[in-house]
Amino acid sequence: MKQQYRGLTTEEVAVSRSAHGTNVLTPPKHEPVWRKFLRKFSDPLIVILLIAGALSVGISFYEYFVLREGLRVFFEPVGIFMAILLATGLAFIFEYKADKEFSILNQVDDEEPVVVLRDGQWHRIPKCDVVVGDIVKVETGAEIPADGQLLESRSLLVDESTLTGEPVAEKEVVGGRGDVYPSWLLLRGTKVVEGYGVMRVQKVGDATENGKVFTAAQIDDSVKTPLNEQLERLGLLISRISYAIAALVIVGRIANELITEPYEWVHFIAYVLQTIMIAVTLIVVAVPEGLPMAVTLSLAYSMRRMLKANNLVRKMHACETMGAATVICTDKTGTLTQNRMTVAEMWISEEQGARSEEQEENLRSLLYENIAVNSTAELSGDEALGNPTEVALLRWLQEQGEDYKELRRQATIIEQVPFSTERKYMSTTLALPSFLRPDGAQPLRRSILPPRVYIKGAPEIVLAQCTLTPEQEKEVKEKLDEWQSRAMRTLAFACEGTLLAIVAISDPVREDVPAAVRECQRAGIRVVIVTGDTMGTAQEVARQCGVAPSSEQLEGASIASMTDEELRERARDIVIVARARPMDKKRLVEALKARGEVVAVTGDGTNDAPALHAAHVGLSMGDGTAVAKEASDITIIDNSFASIGRAVMWGRSLYKNIQRFLFFQLVVNISALIIALVGAVLGTELPLTVTQILWINIIMDTFAAMALSTLPPSRIVMKEPPRKPTDSIVSRN
Ligand code: ATP
Repeated sequence: MKQQYRGLTTEEVAVSRSAHGTNVLTPPKHEPVWRKFLRKFSDPLIVILLIAGALSVGISFYEYFVLREGLRVFFEPVGIFMAILLATGLAFIFEYKADKEFSILNQVDDEEPVVVLRDGQWHRIPKCDVVVGDIVKVETGAEIPADGQLLESRSLLVDESTLTGEPVAEKEVVGGRGDVYPSWLLLRGTKVVEGYGVMRVQKVGDATENGKVFTAAQIDDSVKTPLNEQLERLGLLISRISYAIAALVIVGRIANELITEPYEWVHFIAYVLQTIMIAVTLIVVAVPEGLPMAVTLSLAYSMRRMLKANNLVRKMHACETMGAATVICTDKTGTLTQNRMTVAEMWISEEQGARSEEQEENLRSLLYENIAVNSTAELSGDEALGNPTEVALLRWLQEQGEDYKELRRQATIIEQVPFSTERKYMSTTLALPSFLRPDGAQPLRRSILPPRVYIKGAPEIVLAQCTLTPEQEKEVKEKLDEWQSRAMRTLAFACEGTLLAIVAISDPVREDVPAAVRECQRAGIRVVIVTGDTMGTAQEVARQCGVAPSSEQLEGASIASMTDEELRERARDIVIVARARPMDKKRLVEALKARGEVVAVTGDGTNDAPALHAAHVGLSMGDGTAVAKEASDITIIDNSFASIGRAVMWGRSLYKNIQRFLFFQLVVNISALIIALVGAVLGTELPLTVTQILWINIIMDTFAAMALSTLPPSRIVMKEPPRKPTDSIVSRN
């Protein structure tokens, strides 16, 4: 890579920011608060209450002036109006709070990390801090942070469907015009499908093309969750029953009145009005208007708390669905392991077999160049940017006393095939033997150094392209087996059919993972490890995490060769899938779903998007690509499996809280209705006055909703089996 550019200095950044602004899109104007408050009064129930209040005022005046009763007749209308104010006020405050919680979550997008060159060093900064003039590096899966000119590119394909509808636009530094935008222009909000590029930012924030068409990206709360739908149906049922009972109360009271009292016009009208008001009040009490509020508040509250537990909920339904999960398909790297990769072992060809010294040195130097050039990661001080496997290799190179930047500077790359999980290798072709000895002296003899194609990747793929002696083959295979049985990731390096080296990279299991896996298993959830690594590595990691490796295990290739029916059958006990490619993962998810499982899937790569979409709950990783995040329902910020366990706990607690609230509400509703109905039929005075009923309603619909829907989660829920997704929220109990 040629680094002619230095990037901005700190002062230049400040100047640019004051001249061109920050890289934040101005959100559309919010509705003013008072209008939101007034809108609460258009709620049909509040309207009914207002009418009841007006009636009550009329009746009180009649009682006070005509019947000459005391001032206490006014208690009722005052009570009603206070109740209305309280109900609207509280509902408004809750909604306002919930809105605020959601908007906090929305801001997270501006914090997405971007790799920029400043003061000659690569840094990771939040997207909102990018300024005009910044040099930005983008790689597979990244979202382009601002509009800018491409300075350098390798096999760069960009998904511009958000702006132009073009799902795969080819981008080149010098190239013709694209359909809409020139091919050297990268646009904010579009995503890198594949390849690598360096750009200079020209426009930020509202000035970008994306800014011009911007409508605030909201956390998607429009879709009804299954729970929401269930509750809506239940609410409707309760409302219908309450209308029927209210009608019965009216009939009962009027019939009683006609039988017992001597007929008197004025008195009779007052009595009918009073009866209607009681009926209205009953409806107000019975209709669970607190229910949607309780659900929204629970969700908002859960989302906020889950964020603290490192779960960023992107789609609302995910909270509750997570609570019903029966299978979690998890990645290995970063989720079960620490993603702190270090080179543990390096077996270099030269050290084996008898070769001339010069040849040996050549091989070693070729390996160094392979590691340096055939990579897009960067080390900048203590900070490491890019693919963790490559970072580990660069660090190793540094320990050997090599400067990877220098090696890159000397090389002229003419072609690069970027690493992808499907290909499992990366290759780089250098234009000329630009090779220098490590000490920077004379170039080596060119006759033994043809123009080079470097390849590094999964051993089985790289070895298939190399010629090895039988002894070498045996030795390499033994080494690889041994390393894999120690849970290590293995790679091989080659150049033009010559094996240069094989390497073992260790990545220890996260400390809190075995306990979290155990907790999920105890909660009746099957944990399935789906990894791109080899079976040997996967088995050892599974053992360390407490996933029984003795159960069903498959390789990606055998999944690909199975029919859907076979896979569905095998999916019953599956716990490990090794050498999995993204499509195998998607098919596995579909097979599990077909078995009636509720499936949560983790994914970090761009190619994981189909599996994330297919799952009931897609979990992306904080370090994952923008594409994976967008396809997911929840982002696990710290990448850890332990956080996934907590998401299950929150999901289950949320469901429990709503169930509790519902239980409480139904009990009070039914009691109130029965008391009113029995009173009316027996012809006694109403056992509870209208004001009393209204106050009970406020207390249970608002305060109880708040109290019960925000109860903290409890670990006890993890001791029960998952609920069936088909179960009704009102159980027989
Ligand atoms: P996990 O489930 O552990 O997260 P994964 O599906 O992300 O794994 P990949 O990163 O696709 O796995 O790696 C698959 C294999 O590809 C590795 O075992 C390794 O041999 C090889 N590999 C990984 N990273 C690179 C890279 N940067 N360049 C070349 N080969 C790589």
